[in-house]
Amino acid sequence: MGRTVIGIDIGGTHFRVGRVGADGSVADFRKLPTADILCSGDVLADLAGFIRDYSGGGDVQAVAIGFPATLDRERRRVLQAPNLRFMERLPVVEALSRSLGVPVFAERDVTMALCYDVEKYRIPDQGIVCGIYFGTGIGNAVNIDGRPLLGKNGVAGELGHIPVDGSAIPCGCGNAGCMENLAGGKYLARLERERYPGTAIGELFLRHGGEPLLREFVDRMAEAVATEVNILDPDCVLVGGGVPNMAGFPREYLDERIRFHARKPCPAEGLNVIYTEDEREKSVVGAARYAWRRLSA
Ligand SMILES: [Zn+2]
Repeated sequence: MGRTVIGIDIGGTHFRVGRVGADGSVADFRKLPTADILCSGDVLADLAGFIRDYSGGGDVQAVAIGFPATLDRERRRVLQAPNLRFMERLPVVEALSRSLGVPVFAERDVTMALCYDVEKYRIPDQGIVCGIYFGTGIGNAVNIDGRPLLGKNGVAGELGHIPVDGSAIPCGCGNAGCMENLAGGKYLARLERERYPGTAIGELFLRHGGEPLLREFVDRMAEAVATEVNILDPDCVLVGGGVPNMAGFPREYLDERIRFHARKPCPAEGLNVIYTEDEREKSVVGAARYAWRRLSA
């Protein structure tokens, strides 16, 4: 397929990889247990070895890796990764680029997802574009005129960790009472365990979506989205991730509650919210698209 970028998404459980062309086509997609690849105790050597074997001498232009983590402002190291503690502070970019001899890009996985979605949904670069992804937690990335918002330390866009009054649930970030523990998949797992033990988590909305506990949950999601909307007055908000894509998820109710919490008349009036799908190869293609953008900048 000619020149390619290797796109990688390293999650706490799964490691996804694909070879992606400049047109976004993907070949040799694989989803493997992270523990099978990063297993020797020297994770940078494991990673370099895997990528070298995977590329098999192909015409690789770059490697791009998304992490469920905060990264330093220069995007050279992972700062904090509750599900990948062993990656924290390692010189990922420097070590891999030296060992592989190609440019290596590291980014937050949500920035990669937003990179995928802005192309798929043809969102113009101009202005403020927010990506809010409800998975296990809440992922958030903000683009301003096509460039990721970084912040002083590189950790801007942590919507999942805004504090919620009255909550003391411990969070993976080390704090307590963060929004993502009340409006992410972790809370649904808790509801399944404690309130709906007879219902599989994937059927919670199908079977109980109209009940107060799940209505409250969706309203909490809307509060998270509206918080960002009221601060940034964005041109476009992309809402995605596993939770809004669950069977029976009440998207209309979420939409109604986002508009309820958004300030009137603006940004509520004309608020542009797009609900995105979850494709199998999204994180890998998003990572590669991010790299192709960086290579052509
Ligand atoms: Zn937190």
